[in-house]
Amino acid sequence: MVLTETVPAAAPPAHEGILRRQSLRESAARTYARSLPIVPVRARGLTIEGADGRRYLDCLSGAGTLALGHNHPVVLEAIRTVLDSGAPLHVLDLATPVKDAFTTELFATLPGELAEKGRIQFCGPAGTDAVEAAFKLVRTATGRDGLMAFSGAYHGMTAQALAASGGAQHTSVVRLPYPYDYRCPFQTGGERGAELAARWTQSLLDDPRSGVPRPAGMILEPVQGEGGVIPAPDDWLRRMREITADRRIPLIVDEVQTGVGRTGAFWAVDHSGIVPDVIVLSKAIGGSLPLAVIVYREELDAWQPGAHAGTFRGNQLAMAAGAATLAYVRTNGLDRRAAELGARMLDRLTSLAAAHDCVGDVRGRGLMLGIELVDRTADADATGARPADPQLAAAVQHACLDRGLIVELGGRQSAVVRLLPPLTITDEQADAILDRLADALTAAVRTTPGPTGSSPTTMRGTSP
Ligand code: PMP
Repeated sequence: MVLTETVPAAAPPAHEGILRRQSLRESAARTYARSLPIVPVRARGLTIEGADGRRYLDCLSGAGTLALGHNHPVVLEAIRTVLDSGAPLHVLDLATPVKDAFTTELFATLPGELAEKGRIQFCGPAGTDAVEAAFKLVRTATGRDGLMAFSGAYHGMTAQALAASGGAQHTSVVRLPYPYDYRCPFQTGGERGAELAARWTQSLLDDPRSGVPRPAGMILEPVQGEGGVIPAPDDWLRRMREITADRRIPLIVDEVQTGVGRTGAFWAVDHSGIVPDVIVLSKAIGGSLPLAVIVYREELDAWQPGAHAGTFRGNQLAMAAGAATLAYVRTNGLDRRAAELGARMLDRLTSLAAAHDCVGDVRGRGLMLGIELVDRTADADATGARPADPQLAAAVQHACLDRGLIVELGGRQSAVVRLLPPLTITDEQADAILDRLADALTAAVRTTPGPTGSSPTTMRGTSP
C-alpha cells in the first residue's frame, strides 16, 4: 500500500509575504517598490542583501543619498558616538555640539562667500522642504513673487517644488530651456544650443513686453538628475550667474543630488566656479539620514524670527552622520576619485553605445551617469536624436535586477538608465556593474520588441 503523505504547501518565503502585504497596504503612489521588488535586510558599501538571500550591487544609493555606500564604518561610528554619549536626540533647533560640528564641517567645504559669510537655515528633513524654504526666502528678500525654473527640472513633491519641476501641471513658474544637448529644443545642440537657451532667458527678462515680470529667483540643477542625467555646460552656468547677478535676481542652485563629491567636484558649482545666492542641500549631507538645509548670502537674510520654523530641523544623528560623511569625502578626495572613475565608466558606456544602436546617448559627470535608450527602428530627427524607448529601459532595469544590479530610471520619458554608485566603489566593482549592465542590455534588446509605439509624455515625476 502506498501511503500518500500530505505535504503541507510550502510556506511562502518571508520576503514574498512582505512584498504582498506592501502592495496590499501601501498607496498607489509607491514608486521604487514597484520596479524593484526586493526586501533588503542587510547592506554594506555597494551591496544589499535581500530577505531571499540574493545579493545586489546598489547603483541607486538611496537616490544618490549614500555617498559612502551603505553602513560605512565612519557613519556608524558617528551615530554610535552620539547614542552612547547620552546627548539629547531631539531639541528642536537649539544649539548642540553636534550641530556646531556639522555646520563647521559644511561651511569648510562651501564655495566663496557662502563659506565666509553664508547663513544656514535647517529645514524640514527632505530636499523638497529646503527647496520650499529657498523660494520663501527669496520672495521675502526681494518682495517679488514669480520664479523661474527649467524644463526637465526636478525639485521635489511639495506644492512649490513641484510647480518648479518638469512634471508641473500648472504654470505658476516661468519655464526656461535647459541645455539638453541630445534633444536640443533649438535643434543645434552643443555650445550653440546652450548659447541660444541663455539668450532666450535673457530676452524674457529684458523685453518689457515679454509678459514675464522680474522674478523673486531662478532655480536650477547643475546636472539634472531625475530629468535624465543632463549636465549643464559650465559656460552656460556662468551665463546664468551673470544674467541673474546683473538683474539682481537671486540664483538658487539645487545641489540636493549633485552635492558631496557626486559629480567629481565637492559641489557641482565648483566646476564652473559660480557662487549661487542660495544653495539647497539634502541627501548625502545627512550621511544616509534625513537632513536638509539652505545656505545663502547674508544680504538675503530678511526673515523675521520664526519666519521658517518646523519641529524636525535638528536631527542630531543625521548631523553626526552627515559631518562624518562630509569630512570623509573631503579628507579622502572622493570628489576627485568620482571624477576619475566616472570618466572611465563613461568611456566604457560609450563603447557600449557603439555596440548597441538602442543607446541614443551616454552622458554624465563624475559618478552620476546615464544612458538614454531610444527606439532603434525609428528615424533620427535633424540632430540625430531618436524617440525615447521607455519600454526597453524598463526591460533593462528588470534584466539588471535579475543579474543582481539595482539601477534607476529617469528622464522625461523614463528611458534613461541611471547609475549613482557610492563614491567609495573599487575599480573591480565598477567593472562588475558595467559587465552586468552590458549583459542586461543585450538580454533586454533580445526580448523586447522593436518599435514600442507611443510613449508617455510626462517625465518620471514620482522619484525623490
Ligand atoms: N532636488 C533634487 C535635485 C532632487 O534630485 C530631489 C530628489 N531626487 C529633490 C530636490 C527632492 O528631494 P526629496 O525627495 O528629499 O524631497
